Amino acid sequence: MTVFENYLYDLQKIRVLDNNIHVSKYVQIDLSEQLTDHSRKFLEDRHNFEAYIDNFLETNKALVGYGGYNERRTLYKHHDLFNDDETEERNIHIGYDFWAKGGTAVIAPIDGIVHSFDYNTGEGNYGPTIILEHKADGHHFYTLYGHLSLDSIEDIEIGDQVGRNQSFATIGEPAVNGNYAPHLHFQIIIDLEGNFGDYPGVCSEKDLPHYLKNCPDPDLLFKFSEL
Ligand SMILES: [Zn+2]
Repeated sequence: MTVFENYLYDLQKIRVLDNNIHVSKYVQIDLSEQLTDHSRKFLEDRHNFEAYIDNFLETNKALVGYGGYNERRTLYKHHDLFNDDETEERNIHIGYDFWAKGGTAVIAPIDGIVHSFDYNTGEGNYGPTIILEHKADGHHFYTLYGHLSLDSIEDIEIGDQVGRNQSFATIGEPAVNGNYAPHLHFQIIIDLEGNFGDYPGVCSEKDLPHYLKNCPDPDLLFKFSEL
């Protein structure tokens, strides 16, 4: 682990969704390439995909499905956004997703300020996004929240303070979130590389080493792998 990864790991009990949702209501969900061609085709339809997530949560008596860091996914194959260059398909997810009901509160895991926000429109895109900037214990980094509600970016300004455990956004519905089943995309970013209100959440095989280094595994904060 790097010094920064150690710092993240030493932070205790980090959550980014409504604190009233008990940890026993979280279940890991695998959206990797193990999905068969048949189910992939089926899940290309957003309503089918949403029903798949709802059913998965219900079967597991859960309210939140989590996971997806460094996960190779086929579910991006039908989006032009991720396939603009045939030779460099972007299909590796480098954030961490929380599949939960639209409207679920998003809370800040660490004190920070609003660095930037935007409405990244279009099929398969983030929809409303907020990036928080954090400076703590000699570390300087960012956290990105994607697929939010429009309300989340309505009354905020760059530089707004957001305290740890403060509810500052909510999960968006498909109509605004890029037409996905409702979920939060969370990502830790060391160097924003000049981005503003946006940062790649999916990358190609060729760029993976760079992104894994610049975007450490959020499970260092959540520690779900230790449950
Ligand atoms: Zn995501």
